[in-house]
Amino acid sequence: MVTKFLLTFAICRLIVTVGLAVYPTEILRFGDLEGHLSLDPSDVVSASRDFGGLRGTEPMAVLHPASARDVARLVRSSYESALGFSVSARGHGHSINGQAMTRNGVVIQMSGSRRPPRISEKLMYVDVWGGELWIDVLQSTLEHGLAPKSWTDYLYLSVGGTISNAGISGQAFNHGPQISNVHELEVVTGKGEVVTCSENQNWELYHAVLGGLGQFGIITRARIALERAPQKVRWIRVLYSNFSAFAEDQEFLISLHTQPATLKFDYVEGFVIVDEGLINNWRSSFFSPRNPVKISSLHADAGVLYCLEIAKNYHQSNAQVIDKEVEALLKKLNYIPATEFTTDLPYVDFLDRVHKAELKLRAKNLWDVPHPWLNLFVPKSRITDFDKGVFKGILGNKTSGPILIYPMNKNKWDEKNSAVTPNENVFYLVAFLRSALDNGDETQTLKFLENQNKQILRFCKDKGIEAKQYLPHYTTQQEWMHHFGDKWELFSERKMKFDPRNILANGQGIFKPSFDDLDIASL
Ligand code: FAD
Repeated sequence: MVTKFLLTFAICRLIVTVGLAVYPTEILRFGDLEGHLSLDPSDVVSASRDFGGLRGTEPMAVLHPASARDVARLVRSSYESALGFSVSARGHGHSINGQAMTRNGVVIQMSGSRRPPRISEKLMYVDVWGGELWIDVLQSTLEHGLAPKSWTDYLYLSVGGTISNAGISGQAFNHGPQISNVHELEVVTGKGEVVTCSENQNWELYHAVLGGLGQFGIITRARIALERAPQKVRWIRVLYSNFSAFAEDQEFLISLHTQPATLKFDYVEGFVIVDEGLINNWRSSFFSPRNPVKISSLHADAGVLYCLEIAKNYHQSNAQVIDKEVEALLKKLNYIPATEFTTDLPYVDFLDRVHKAELKLRAKNLWDVPHPWLNLFVPKSRITDFDKGVFKGILGNKTSGPILIYPMNKNKWDEKNSAVTPNENVFYLVAFLRSALDNGDETQTLKFLENQNKQILRFCKDKGIEAKQYLPHYTTQQEWMHHFGDKWELFSERKMKFDPRNILANGQGIFKPSFDDLDIASL
């Protein structure tokens, strides 16, 4: 039910003391909201947390919007007020470093207030609310036998949250990241204007927002490309002890993106196993305990194994040919013989695979722990150096969570978008998905893992490996300028144009708000 009410909201900055600075009282007036603005402590505390669990910053209030108009009203109030306040959209709070947080401002809780999606079967797209979770997008589109083409590994993330970054998974080599599969957006800019944008209409805002880390506007609607949904998936894992063989096979498989569907896999990922205990980690519970893989028996080079993970989608009606198609592709690969693990499952179960692992971890109280994750895009030309120096060097046969590694084709990324990738035709995602534990093992502590992340970044710098952070986190503008490289000038010009008072997404720590001399990144 849409509730309309007039709310006079007093933000009591008078009593907000940050360090030595005491802020003046500021009164904001919101009338005629369809959703509601909450000062409820439980709302405020929940908006001050994220999956990373590394920092916490409380906003002064949380808006639960019922429409783009509510979002626009709030942002416009800040834009037009003398003092201003910061506004951060929060999708599902699955960032690592407080990117969706704000202080001295308002968090807009985008997920949780669902709008019915609108599907066009003829034009093969779905229009969804920016706070919609991908799992819900999937469920709605499957009712029409359709599904988005490009995914993330985990579906309990919001549409606005992933397309503010890029949204990648094993389909990206073929379909590009999620930001390459968005036809149109409705965005509330930092001036509080509601703007529809696409390649043909307000194209600059459209490209700025895709991969734009929330800097240019709040996505209230996204039009996502769809395809006919497969019914089933053949999911295969094979092992390698030789990194070159592994990387060559991955690169070969992604080079098939121009081939017809029957001649390529639909999903290509992989992970590194540096620690025998992790062969059945939370992302790889795939290996059956009845069929255990003994790393020691596989003569891993420097104790490291590589697992190629591939999948082929199919319909029940062509189940007879899937064996042949898969066999023909596997024949071209050079994995260790007899290390092939195969399972068939419904498409939805494949896409939602990480959620099952989440439930298991939650049951053991191992989900809500600190997650000092590090995600890097590493250029193909330096991936062997990275393997030697990091997987076989810095990690020292110990890690605390899955390490994903898979290549992508740069030509599937639109350079006009804000997302940044290395300057090579092929680059790898390397994702250290760490969980910090307090279990007496020093190598699993937050301090140890954060130090290891720093060592990896230093290694790249020292060796001249031009890696780019994915889901980036920096503490100085100098580092951000280096991150964006050639794109920085355009990025900052677009910021001036679409969010001139630096109201939006200050949790990213890129630009300082004009009305606040403190930012989260410096805490
Ligand atoms: P939040 O953390 O809430 O927000 C992230 C940023 O986006 C913030 O700056 C926020 O202000 C901004 N934002 C949020 N909503 C909007 C909006 N509507 N408009 C504008 N800006 C907005 N990423 C991948 O690409 N592939 C994966 O496979 C993948 N797997 C993951 C698995 C897990 C378990 C986790 C925790 C994360 C994973 N991620 C993956 C990372 C994830 O895509 C990002 O952390 C993403 O930002 C999380 O989405 P969210 O909805 O929780 O965003």
